[in-house]
Amino acid sequence: MYFSLLGVGLGLLLFLAYLGVPILPMLVIVGIGIAIWYFSGTGTKAGSLWKKENAKDQRNTIPRIQFTDIGGQERAKKELMEALDFLIQQDKMQAYGIQPLKGILLTGPPGTGKTLMAKAAAHYSDAVFLTASGSEFVEMYVGVGANRVRQLFTQARNTAKKQKKNRAVIFIDEIDVIGAKREGSQHKEYDQTLNQLLTEMDGIKKNDIAVFVIAATNRKDLLDAALTRPGRFDRHISVDLPDKEGRAHILSLHMKKRPIHENVNVNKIAQETYGFSGASLASVVNEAAIYAMRSESKDIRDQHFAQAVDKVLMGEQTDRSTSLEDKKRVAIHELGHALVAELLEPNTVAQVVLTPRGQALGYVRHHPKDDRYLHTKEQLEKQVMICLAGTAAEEVWYDNRSTGAKNDYEQAIQLCKTMIDTGLTSLGIIDMTLLSTDQLSKEVSRILDKLYQQTIQMTKKHHSFFRDCLNTLLVEERLDGDQFRKLLMQQLVS
Ligand code: ATP
Repeated sequence: MYFSLLGVGLGLLLFLAYLGVPILPMLVIVGIGIAIWYFSGTGTKAGSLWKKENAKDQRNTIPRIQFTDIGGQERAKKELMEALDFLIQQDKMQAYGIQPLKGILLTGPPGTGKTLMAKAAAHYSDAVFLTASGSEFVEMYVGVGANRVRQLFTQARNTAKKQKKNRAVIFIDEIDVIGAKREGSQHKEYDQTLNQLLTEMDGIKKNDIAVFVIAATNRKDLLDAALTRPGRFDRHISVDLPDKEGRAHILSLHMKKRPIHENVNVNKIAQETYGFSGASLASVVNEAAIYAMRSESKDIRDQHFAQAVDKVLMGEQTDRSTSLEDKKRVAIHELGHALVAELLEPNTVAQVVLTPRGQALGYVRHHPKDDRYLHTKEQLEKQVMICLAGTAAEEVWYDNRSTGAKNDYEQAIQLCKTMIDTGLTSLGIIDMTLLSTDQLSKEVSRILDKLYQQTIQMTKKHHSFFRDCLNTLLVEERLDGDQFRKLLMQQLVS
């Protein structure tokens, strides 16, 4: 239709030009008109793109993802299901005069399964599912975002109606993009978009179709109070990084339908992947399958998972070739980390590796015995010593240091700051912000010097261990935790 209108307009202009009417000013006015129409959300760019995106949603019926497809997150799933029961049992709620929920806010780190939760919520409540990201509402032009919010809610109702459902779930990812705190003279466009969203949420039930909003953010602290107050997103559910049991559950879900060797121990992989999100765990299983395929193995084995964990943690293996001298130094450095780690925290070394990956020329992968959320001073000091042990080993073996320990120092300094901030140092309980840079740096240096001397003493005592292990590591290039412990035990008993 737009093209025929354009044709008529063009014909008219040519006719006027033929009559001798000056058409240039008219062309300018028409151009400005088209630009306004184009960017206002009704025109091609904003309007039909939005429609095209949502045409996809038109076909979207009820997502197939169910709560049973989500690993771990038991508390979050339970809370979400309880909230959805309110939505489902509306009659019962009305009898008690309970206000219907308008929105649920899922908060948590990236990749923990917030989108999966929203999809499962739609499945659970037999609702059509539409999704949008906060950044899709952001435009330079005032009114476009608000218009898109309106279209999204209309779309939700129309889709539900077409599919004969009386519920729709709208999932808005990255809600912080439009819902961040307003400070003074904020961008008017953001205000209008947020206001439109709040208005739509207030008039939640139109034409007997309930539209329920689930939003997600990694930055709840940034959100405007207007969004988080009761009556808006009144339920906040945190979707955290999974614990060991949760990680094992997620891994098993992703291992289903894949040829996994019977010796693969899911609990061991779960133990070695402390701090991994659901998305990282999904990636571990996928990478392991790729390694298995590359090596033409008929099933996915332990070694493929070990490589996959390293890849997700450290990045892709690189072809950087190193001189034998550098390789030896890296081996001594890594053996230092592994030795001190095993002496201070037995059974925690998972791999000692001498092949370059990401930025590292070699690395030691540790896994804690249990997931820890609280740390004592002694535990943090041990961590600092493990960080410093690479340099200590170089110093004991070569009598000098190299540049390879920058990351170790950064981690050690961060741990010292945590100790200071949590009142675990001789400074006592203090407000870190009141410390001068000089005071802070003196205290960090004092802790580091003390722990470095202890690490040197510990490393010196095992000088012969380096001599005995160096060649094995240079030849094997990778020792798993058990191989490393065997070598260490041989040295300790001799
Ligand atoms: P973001 O905050 O970055 O948008 P998110 O929290 O919404 O991330 P999802 O998009 O739901 O995370 O998860 C990404 C992928 O990670 C999923 O498609 C799935 O493969 C995997 N995943 C994440 N969490 C889980 C889980 N709890 N169980 C199973 N798979 C998971």
